[in-house]
Formats: sequence, structure tokens, C-alpha cells
Amino acid sequence: MAATMQPAESDASPLLSVNNLEVVYDDVIHVLKGVSLDVPEGKIVALLGANGAGKTTLLRALSGLLDVHDGEVTKGSVHFAGRPVHHLPPTKIASMGIKQVLEGRRIFAELTVEENLRVGGHVAPRSIKTNMERVFGLFPVLAERRRRTAGYLSGGEQQMLAMGRALMSEPRCLLLDEPSLGLAPLIVQQIRDLIVEINASGTTVLLVEQNAAMALAISEHGYVMENGKIVMDKPSKELLDDSDVREFYLGLGAEGATKSFREVKHYKRRKRWLS
Ligand code: ATP
Repeated sequence: MAATMQPAESDASPLLSVNNLEVVYDDVIHVLKGVSLDVPEGKIVALLGANGAGKTTLLRALSGLLDVHDGEVTKGSVHFAGRPVHHLPPTKIASMGIKQVLEGRRIFAELTVEENLRVGGHVAPRSIKTNMERVFGLFPVLAERRRRTAGYLSGGEQQMLAMGRALMSEPRCLLLDEPSLGLAPLIVQQIRDLIVEINASGTTVLLVEQNAAMALAISEHGYVMENGKIVMDKPSKELLDDSDVREFYLGLGAEGATKSFREVKHYKRRKRWLS
């Protein structure tokens, strides 16, 4: 009897696959210009880029939120688990297992922690209790504050609540938009550990970050986006060693010395990937 062959990992198609995607806002503002990116199941993939590069726009395209912002996919495709999703409404995409945690910790400030989590759990109503226990297990501080009004939580706790609310829908793929933004280094460390833990429990993660050091430390693969295009795409370990990434995203000089703000501000050399 012939033995059953398992496909080699490299042959498996990625859970999330973006191909040559173009996005336009208001019919004229061309923001994504042929973006391709893969997120394999079970991995953390990082997407780096300066302000205005188009990272949030890409996430909106993945979760179906472009419409709300008068944006539209004009070319290319997004496939999730082998199915095209780029023309589906956000509710349908969410029910398939893609969940975005928006930049800026959008929680319902007037509701309690527990009520926020219940809102997140409406997609999987039968599992609300189990999922809430799981979220409280991951974020014990939320369990302690379960009856507190969310608007009174600290920035780090609000970020945890936003992530916890997304996890209530049992996503297969979590899209995180700048989870470390504006948080103190110690809290960033906690968020980083939580992302690793969420991933270890089986959730695939696409992590958009300006904190390149954090994102590359925990991801397997990284993409760098500039002006609506992917300009670099490598295993995260290699990106951490790349001299341009070190200079422009990690603020490090050739010998690993931290550059002063003045040096970075006045730095004029063209990035090699643009030359
Ligand atoms: P940031 O970290 O600053 O959010 P980003 O890489 O996420 O940057 P986007 O927010 O995707 O970038 O913005 C990319 C470009 O698209 C910017 O030039 C921005 O002004 C433009 N843009 C974003 N949203 C809209 C919109 N609703 N209508 C028109 N232009 C938009």
C-alpha cells in the first residue's frame, strides 16, 4: 500500500495571499500600486513602513473596510484559505476568520470590559463564555477589571481589550495595526509577548508596526512598504541584518550605534532599494 504523502511546507498555499493589489480612494488617489504578500498559516508576518506608506490601506483591503473610506480595489486579488475575498463585505470576511484590530485601540469607551468582549463575541454566540475565559486567561488584567468602564483603562489595557475583543470571534488570522503605538516600553514588551502567545495558540498574525525591532524580533518573515509598493521582502532575521533596514527602521549606524535624532533627521542618502 502506498504511503500517504504530506505536502512539503513550501508547497502549501499561504492562508492569506495578496496578489498585485491596487487600491484607489475617491476614484483618483492611487495608494496601493501592485502589492503582493503572503501570510502562511500559523506564522507571524511583519509589515513595516513609514507613515503614509499604505499599510493601513492594505489592512482595510484585507478586512473589507475600504468602502467605509471611499476606497476600492481596482486591480489584483486577495485570497483567504484559497477563496477570493477582495470583493466581499466586512461581515462576510470576518465570518471566514479574518479579524482586524484597528490602529488607535477602538474600544467602546462607555461599555465595561466584559460588554466590549461580548460585542466581539457576537460572531460566535455559542462560545462566548469559553472565549471570554480564554481571553481572561491571556489578559488577566482584563479579568480583574471586567466590570470597569473601558474608557478608564490605561492605554496598554485598552490595547489588550481591543485584541481580546478580536479574539472573541475565534479568528484564524489576526490583523494588528500598530499595537505598540504610543505605549511605554514595558507595556510594548507585554504586548509583544501576548502576540507571541496568541500565535502559539494557533492564530496566524499579520503585524503592521513602526516598531520594527519588536515586529522583526517575533515574526518569521517581513515586508517593507514604501509609497504603496513592497520594496523588500525577506525572512525577518535577514531584515534585522540589512543595512538599510537597520539605518532607516531601527535607527542604527553601521556599527550598531544608535543614531542621534539630528543624524536621522538630516540623513539624505537615498535608500538602496529605491535606487
Ligand atoms: P500611517 O501609519 O500614517 O497610518 P500607513 O502606512 O498606514 O500610514 P495609510 O493610512 O494606508 O498609510 O495611507 C496611505 C496614503 O493613503 C496616505 O497618503 C493617506 O493620506 C492616503 N489615505 C488614507 N486614507 C484615505 C482616504 N480615506 N481617502 C483618501 N486618501 C487616503
